[in-house]
Amino acid sequence: MVNATTKNPPNLYLRIGLRFIRLFTSASLVAWLILLLFLLMILWMVGELRTRDMRYAQQQFDIQLQEVIQTIEQRMKAHEQILTGAAALFDASDAVSRYEWQTYISRLELPRYFPGIQAVAFARVIRPEDLQSHVQAMRAEGFSDYQLRPEGIRKLYTSIDYIEPFSGRNLAAFGYDMFSEPVRRAAMSMAVNEDATRISDRVTLVQENRGRVQPGLLMYIPIYDRTRPVATAEERWAALQGFVYSAYRMEDLMQGILGQRNLNIHFDIYSAPAPEENALLYRSHADASYTADPLFKQTLVINVYGREWTLVFTKEREILPSVWFRLDQLVLILGASISLLLFLLISFLANERQRARFLANRMTEDIQQNVQALRLSEERFRLALDSSSMGTWNWYLAENAIHWDESIYPLFGLSANHSLNTYESFLALLHPDDRARVFQEIASAMEGHVQYDTEYRIIWPDGSLHYIASRAKVLHSENHKPLLMTGTCWDITERKQIERMKNEFVSMVSHELRTPLTSINGAIGLLASGALDDSPEKTRQLIDMAYKNSQRLGLLIDDLLDMEKLSNGKIVYDMAQLPLVPLVKRALAENQIYADQYQITYRLQTELAVASVTLDATRFLQVMANLLSNAAKFSNAGNEVVVEIISLSEQWVRIAVIDQGIGIPAAEQAFIFEKFYQVDGSDKRKKGGTGLGLAITKIMVEQMNGKLGLESQEGVGSTFYVDLPLAPEQ
Ligand code: ADP
Repeated sequence: MVNATTKNPPNLYLRIGLRFIRLFTSASLVAWLILLLFLLMILWMVGELRTRDMRYAQQQFDIQLQEVIQTIEQRMKAHEQILTGAAALFDASDAVSRYEWQTYISRLELPRYFPGIQAVAFARVIRPEDLQSHVQAMRAEGFSDYQLRPEGIRKLYTSIDYIEPFSGRNLAAFGYDMFSEPVRRAAMSMAVNEDATRISDRVTLVQENRGRVQPGLLMYIPIYDRTRPVATAEERWAALQGFVYSAYRMEDLMQGILGQRNLNIHFDIYSAPAPEENALLYRSHADASYTADPLFKQTLVINVYGREWTLVFTKEREILPSVWFRLDQLVLILGASISLLLFLLISFLANERQRARFLANRMTEDIQQNVQALRLSEERFRLALDSSSMGTWNWYLAENAIHWDESIYPLFGLSANHSLNTYESFLALLHPDDRARVFQEIASAMEGHVQYDTEYRIIWPDGSLHYIASRAKVLHSENHKPLLMTGTCWDITERKQIERMKNEFVSMVSHELRTPLTSINGAIGLLASGALDDSPEKTRQLIDMAYKNSQRLGLLIDDLLDMEKLSNGKIVYDMAQLPLVPLVKRALAENQIYADQYQITYRLQTELAVASVTLDATRFLQVMANLLSNAAKFSNAGNEVVVEIISLSEQWVRIAVIDQGIGIPAAEQAFIFEKFYQVDGSDKRKKGGTGLGLAITKIMVEQMNGKLGLESQEGVGSTFYVDLPLAPEQ
């Protein structure tokens, strides 16, 4: 047994393979074009999305970058404001005490409003001649171990006197001489020289005495003795009393400036016109590796209180989260998938359509061919039907309705408007002896046992017998119920007659020819043996018998030859206008021998004294001989055969031969004029005869423009009549 599962896969692969190959047929061209178009469109869309994203990111980057710069600048300005305020405090009073300084600064609430300032302080300028008194004054103020740091002899000293908040890291700055340190000195000098707020380069604040060291920055505003001129740098140096300044730890400052702002960009601040690593003030992200391959990078140089700062902004490439797609990727993947699906769909549809069209075309062609063939066969069938006088019928079983085509009605001797539409009305037409058999045959055909192929007899309304052959097929429903019986029938009466005639002829030949031949044979045999030489009487009888029999043979052969000639139109009629009555009388006289033989009498009965007809006298006498001999043969001894001459009309005369013999059954009357036809059961064999007489008679009468007719009743008698046209009166 074949296992279905082992059989299917190769088929499946084959089908998939075929489908795949079909993707490359011409039908798929449109699908390929659409796929290409879609892919191009998607690529374009993805490109657009990417550029748009990029443009947007660039804008965001620019905005944030500006925001950072602005915030830094604004905050630095605010820090300058604080210092300016502090400077104003000095300008406004002769001397600012530590307490006043403290009060002023604490009032500003720096940690709250300006986070990121490490210290706001005042560094007093001390000229070398005042150094001693300054140290003493400080110590007198309570800072007993006060010492200006670093120690040493310098041209100018500064001392961080007031520093707020005066606690923590800031304590380390107290008493420190910033002017001693070059970076700070540069910024301080610049502030004086340029009479402006200045910031320092990167420094390490003295406050960085613990923890992680941050780059530091200082902002200075010089304080002058307001009583002295400060127009020039020299005058300012001379009038210089000190500096108010802010100290910043850069990371704290930037933290204070940017606060919790969520920046998507990174930036470095260099306290130099170029991003030199040793000038790095601030780095927004501890890890500098992102700068290796940034998405955007922008370097800007800004001027911050006399110093050029370089700001390097970068935007790193975003690392995509693994679980989700970016929009453009999503579009790409979805778009490509949809395009592919669309392509397969269109390709499939196109192929299916082409296949469907191909199949439809083939089917149409087939149908056309079939229709053509059907038409031809119908034509042939119709021709066959027409020439064979065959009829077709359908019997719809559910409705018990029989539909006949119009050629059937004549077969049944009916007119076309006869209503014959049920099975029962059909059965009624059959010969009573055939009904049960046909009924049985139809029933068997419906059960599907046998073909319906039968012959039956029917009796026409005029009483004549006809033979019909019929063949039919039964169409069944799916559940084997008979639905329709469709068939044909045709008249086989002629064939039946021919068959019958043939049989009769054979038996006639075997009997009628052989019987006289046997007698002749026997007689001649006896004569030849010489046994009867001494008995002339016996010899004469034998010769007489042989003579009679050979005469009978001769007659038979004459009949056959006559028939043959008549059939081929070889007989020439010597037509002449003759008085009828004398001719009929002559016929009676010539056939008297029959009357004697069968012991009957012929009697002429005529009301017409004078009647002329046009005919061949010899042939007419032959006709009369036939009718008279038949009348004698089929009458009973002692009967009378009346020959009557009747005037039918002015044109027609009838010669009727009326016997009181055995008569002819109605069913046989139609065939009586056929060749070799002899009525069954008649004792014709005894009477001799060929069955050709009446056939010959009929043809002769008709060829002499007359009509031969018959009226007969079985057991009562027969009347054969010859109707002839009267010759015009002379
Ligand atoms: P046949 O040579 O047999 O007489 P016919 O053609 O003359 O041939 O007649 C054919 C048949 O018709 C006869 O065999 C007989 O059965 C029937 N027939 C003819 N004439 C008569 C008649 N007058 N009465 C009864 N039957 C007749």
